[in-house]
Amino acid sequence: MQTNFTPEQLTDPHVAESEAILRKCVHCGFCTATCPTYVTLGNELDSPRGRIYLIKDMLENGRPADAEVTTHIDRCLSCLACTTTCPSGVDYMHLIDHARAHIENTYKRPLMDRITRNVLAAVLPYPSRFRFALRLARLGQPLKGLLRRIPSLKPFAAMLDLAPRSVPAPSPFSRPRRHEPQAERRGRVAILTGCAQPVLDPGINEATIRLLTRLGVEVVAPEGEVCCGSLVHHMGREEQALAAARANIDVWTREIEAGGLDAIIITASGCGTTIKDYGHMLRLDPAYAGKAAKVSALAKDITEYLASLDLPSHMPRGVTVAYHSACSMQHGQKITMAPKLLLKAAGFTVRDPAEGHLCCGSAGTYNIMQPEISAELKARKVRNIEATKADVIATGNIGCITQIATGTGIPILHTVELLDWAYGGEVPAKLKGLQPTAV
Ligand code: SF4
Ligand code: SF4
Repeated sequence: MQTNFTPEQLTDPHVAESEAILRKCVHCGFCTATCPTYVTLGNELDSPRGRIYLIKDMLENGRPADAEVTTHIDRCLSCLACTTTCPSGVDYMHLIDHARAHIENTYKRPLMDRITRNVLAAVLPYPSRFRFALRLARLGQPLKGLLRRIPSLKPFAAMLDLAPRSVPAPSPFSRPRRHEPQAERRGRVAILTGCAQPVLDPGINEATIRLLTRLGVEVVAPEGEVCCGSLVHHMGREEQALAAARANIDVWTREIEAGGLDAIIITASGCGTTIKDYGHMLRLDPAYAGKAAKVSALAKDITEYLASLDLPSHMPRGVTVAYHSACSMQHGQKITMAPKLLLKAAGFTVRDPAEGHLCCGSAGTYNIMQPEISAELKARKVRNIEATKADVIATGNIGCITQIATGTGIPILHTVELLDWAYGGEVPAKLKGLQPTAV
C-alpha cells in the first residue's frame, strides 16, 4: 500500500512503525473472510482491510480520532485472526495498538463510555477490587433487565451476566511463595499469578503448581507481581500498561538474578501474548528494553513449557475433549498443536470444533463493551463446540472459559486442569458429577 507520510511525521517512531506496517498491505482482502466482525456484520469498515484504511487515513492526515473511526476500531476484537490469514505478513497487532493509543489521546468519548472504561480499568486488574465487585454484582442481578433497556448502560448489564453465581474463596496458591519440587529437580520457573483469573477460577493456578512440582519443577510466585497490563493496553492506555509491564519486569528480573529462571509460566493466553510483547512495548525505553526482551523470551504458556518436559503417554481414558483454541493462543502466540498433543498423550480423545479460527467473543473486556456482537459470536462458538458431542471443553484462557460457560452446559476447564488430573492429580471439581467411563 502506498503511503504519504511527511518526513516530519516519520520522526515519531510510532508513526514510522505504523507506516512500515501499512506499506506491507496489498489490499488483497484475504483477511476479511476470517475476521469475526466482518463475518458477523458484513461491513468492509468492520474488516481488517477496512480498519487499515481508516487508520492510514487518520494517521497520514495527522487527524484526531473521530466517532466513526473509534466505532470501527472499538469493534475489533484484537483476535488477530487477520494476522494468521494475511499472506503479506501485515503486523496488524502493533498497528491497532497504535490506533487505540491515538484514539485514547485524541478523542473524547461520550460520558457513559468514559465512566465504563474507567471502572473497568480501575477494577479488573486488581484482585481484591475485582472480588469485591463480583460480590456486589450478585446484589445487582435484579437490575439487569432495566440496565439492558438503556443503551449506554448495556455494558453494566453484560457485567452482571458474566458475574459468577458465587465467588471462590481466595486460594493459598495465589499468595507469593516458593513451591518446592516433589520429585527429582528438573527446573525452576516463576508463575504469573494474574489478576482476574485467580479470583474467578483459582483452581487453574493450583493445578499448574501441583502438576509442575510433581514433575520436579520449583515454582516461584514472586512478591510484587501485578496484572500483565493487557486489559488497559487494549483500551489504548499505554502509560498504565507500560507501568504494569515495568513492575513485572522488575519482579522477574530480581528472580532471574536471585536463582535463575527457566521460564515465566503464564496460564492465561491473553496475558501471554502481552508479556511476549513486553520487549516490543518497551523497545524505546533504554532503562527497560534489554530486561523486557529477556522477560519476553522467558515467557511461556504452560502448555508450551509442559511440551518441553517430555511427559509419558497414557492409555485412552474414555473422555472426549473439544479443544477451543483461544485467539491469543492460536493467533497471538501461534501455539496450535502443543495443547492438543498434550491432551492426546494424556489419554483424552480430542476434537476440533468447526470454525476454530473464529473468536468466542470474549476478547478481554469486549464482551462487556460490545455485548451484542459478543453474544452472536458466543452463540456461534457454542453451536460448533456442542456439535462435537464432547464430554468436556478445554481451553487456555480464563476469558474464553467465562464467556463459553455462560452459553453451554458442557463443563469447560483449563487444559492444565485436565493434565494435572491425568498425571496424578484429583478429578477436577467441575467433572465430579460427570458420567462417562473414566471419570
Ligand atoms: S483482530 Fe480480529 S476482529 Fe480485529 S480486524 Fe483482525 S480479525 Fe478482525
Ligand atoms: S490479507 Fe493482509 S495484505 Fe491482504 S488486505 Fe488483509 S492485511 Fe492487507
